[in-house]
Amino acid sequence: MDFLKASAIRIQAAPRLRLTWSLGALALLLAIGALIMPLAARPVSRLPAFMLAYGVTMVVLNALLATLFLCKATASGQSRLNILAAAYIFVVLMMMPAVFSFPDAIVAGSIIGNRMSAIYLWIAWHYGFGLAAVWYLTRSGADHYRAGPILLGTLAVAAATVVGVTLGAERLPDIFVDGVAFGSPALKLVPVSLLALALAGFVLSVQRAHTAEDAGLAVGLGATCLDIWLSFYGGPQYSAGWYAAKVFGLTASVAVLAALCLEITRLYLNAAKANEVLRRLAERDGLTQLFNRRHFDEQLAEQWGLASRSGQAISVIMIDIDWFKSYNDTYGHQVGDLCLRAVGLALIGVSPDRQDFVSRYGGEEFVVLVPAADASGAAAVAEEIRAAVARLAVPHRSSPKGRVTVSVGAFTMVAEGARPDLIMRRADECLYEAKARGRDQVVSASAIVPPVRPDNHRLAACAA
Ligand code: GH3
Ligand code: MG
Ligand code: MG
Repeated sequence: MDFLKASAIRIQAAPRLRLTWSLGALALLLAIGALIMPLAARPVSRLPAFMLAYGVTMVVLNALLATLFLCKATASGQSRLNILAAAYIFVVLMMMPAVFSFPDAIVAGSIIGNRMSAIYLWIAWHYGFGLAAVWYLTRSGADHYRAGPILLGTLAVAAATVVGVTLGAERLPDIFVDGVAFGSPALKLVPVSLLALALAGFVLSVQRAHTAEDAGLAVGLGATCLDIWLSFYGGPQYSAGWYAAKVFGLTASVAVLAALCLEITRLYLNAAKANEVLRRLAERDGLTQLFNRRHFDEQLAEQWGLASRSGQAISVIMIDIDWFKSYNDTYGHQVGDLCLRAVGLALIGVSPDRQDFVSRYGGEEFVVLVPAADASGAAAVAEEIRAAVARLAVPHRSSPKGRVTVSVGAFTMVAEGARPDLIMRRADECLYEAKARGRDQVVSASAIVPPVRPDNHRLAACAA
């Protein structure tokens, strides 16, 4: 998981550091190219089907990248990603006819155009992608780029290119001069400008490498540089350099895809963490950190269902701080808040293993759910609660007792055939009775008609 965390760290590179990185990355590219070049011209087996496999893989990878960038542009609002999506769509649209026109890739000869069409489509792909990448890399996040016009423009350019280089294949200028590809000085401008464009994209992306995704794009454009270099200067078709160029072409797409997947994984992790934090916040009371009424209602419904099915008894204990209004009036609301927290902690202290069932019900009222206990067990817990608050001995000079006390109402019943609001009403009536009898006391009652099953060990434990 560490690598995921590392990918999330934004590298805020200073200008000098960025220059060093760019030069270092360029040196690495040159080193890889220089290592491969001596072997590049070696002929390797002639495998026309390799072109088909390569083409299909590139189409799938680049279509996937285009989809992911379109989705990300929509979800994140970074509309300049639409430019990148268009760049990958353009690759797909050039790649398919390039395979169809590549001799012997699918059938003997070319399906559309001719051998020259495949080369021109390859050139168009690299110009189109390079220009789009540089455009994307020089845009700021503040500008707005609508997907519709960009995609329509891409489709129009792609359609014109494909029609031009396939239907007009016979009229395309020959790139071979005396058997040498791009042999004339004018034609040499093509590989040089393509390489310059890819290098510009590579340097720009290295300088922007703030996230894993940017870094993936930098690796991808670096691999594209090697692809172009080897394609032009690495030897003829089916040489080691030609195959290596194709591998670098694939690497360019895989690097960006891997970076995007890393980014998506990071987003999933962040979303899961944020959800967990929200879930915890939603079920807690901000002041006392006890569970809140919403959580209590959920717990009651769940435990009520369990108790209904098992036939076990269930108890609710309601606790209300006595003369709390006058406590606030005497000491102020802030001290009142501290008192509420102290009482909450005392409740937790009574049944630390049942924290789930202790909640702040609202205002200066608390509630404790006691599943699987009989009336005497619940009454014992209620008395423990009253005594625990009394032991706190929080001074309350406006109370006849001279300290903070609570009144407690506990009610026990068998859930079967009844609704949970009944037990709440009954527990509240008990609490009301405790208030009426003078406060600082427990009133408990039960409505258990059938005896609670003797095999209930929790019941026995509570009653003991
Ligand atoms: P009784 O003995 O009958 O329960 O009297 P009481 O004064 O405790 O009851 P009453 O309902 O008259 O007053 C409850 C007080 O609780 C009023 C309100 O200001 C206070 N209270 C409710 N929530 C909070 C809170 O979050 N913080 C503070 N400090 N006081 C609160
Ligand atoms: Mg009250
Ligand atoms: Mg009160």
